[in-house]
Amino acid sequence: MSAKLIDGKALAQTLREDVGAAVAALRTAHGAAPALAVVLVGDDPASQVYVRGKVRQTEAAGMISIERRLPATSTQEEVENTVEALNKDPDVDGILVQLPLPAPLDETAVIEKIDPAKDVDGLTKANAGRLLLGMPGLRPCTPTGCVMLAKQALGDLSGKDCLVIGRSVLVGKPAALLFLNENCTTTIAHSRTRDLAQKCRAADILVAAIGRPNMVQGDWIKPGACVIDVGINRVDDASAARRYRLVGDVDFDAASKQAGHITPVPGGVGPMTIACLLRNTVLAACARRGWPLPAQIQ
Ligand code: NDP
Repeated sequence: MSAKLIDGKALAQTLREDVGAAVAALRTAHGAAPALAVVLVGDDPASQVYVRGKVRQTEAAGMISIERRLPATSTQEEVENTVEALNKDPDVDGILVQLPLPAPLDETAVIEKIDPAKDVDGLTKANAGRLLLGMPGLRPCTPTGCVMLAKQALGDLSGKDCLVIGRSVLVGKPAALLFLNENCTTTIAHSRTRDLAQKCRAADILVAAIGRPNMVQGDWIKPGACVIDVGINRVDDASAARRYRLVGDVDFDAASKQAGHITPVPGGVGPMTIACLLRNTVLAACARRGWPLPAQIQ
């Protein structure tokens, strides 16, 4: 392997420590700490694991964690009323609705109910528009983590050719805009893109957010490129204790021979997502309550 590993676990830990120090400073200065509310509807096992992780890390950073659990049979109105109540609660700084919501709930309508000032996932129209317009706002967590990892590897990203594969509202589109804001020359690829391999070979930074195990081949990677693998895919593995293992969207072993820097799966983008969520909660609390931003996370 010639590529240097971009250690998302280590960077996320540093970020969480900075958030923890910022929260401690806020407690000292204002006698209060930011509070993050997580809304979980139904009993999807993966969502429960994610929510447990978020609650644990919120508390570990010294923040207040609030959980609202609703049954899978909840109506649209019940879920939206839960969000509205959190919007009105002056002690709540951030609201995260764990996705996906059980069918037939309308996710977009629920997300849109979140007060943009508390939208720590950065998914409301208001925050998406602010990102597009280059205005201050809360940015989606996973794409923010991708940019931080690329900067950790390369420093200044200005002028780099960046290819983002995937155009989802959650990852691909905001990632492309965030890399554009870093002055990259950004291209977005998707399922209808022609000559994908060729486009990958021109990319200094390749962000794969597809959801297809090992799709990006080693010989698609420009020698020395920085590869950010967002994909989290379960593949069967009879020899593994859990009978499955997690792989990304990039063929890691082959890509490592070509790339200059690469994120592993797991241990790359994943840990950054929660760390960025905690950071967003502090940003939201400071903006909403009129507190100066602590130096630790500026
Ligand atoms: P979506 O399914 O919403 O989007 C996938 C995108 O990939 C679509 O834009 C789709 O194109 C594109 N795509 C699918 N097949 C191809 C193909 N053959 N060639 C080129 N493009 C293709 O997924 P998400 O964006 O929500 O997630 C992507 C991956 O990232 C998943 O593995 C997910 O688990 C992971 N993820 C990881 C997170 C983390 O914290 N690490 C957080 C969120 C997601 P089209 O639009 O044309 O259909």
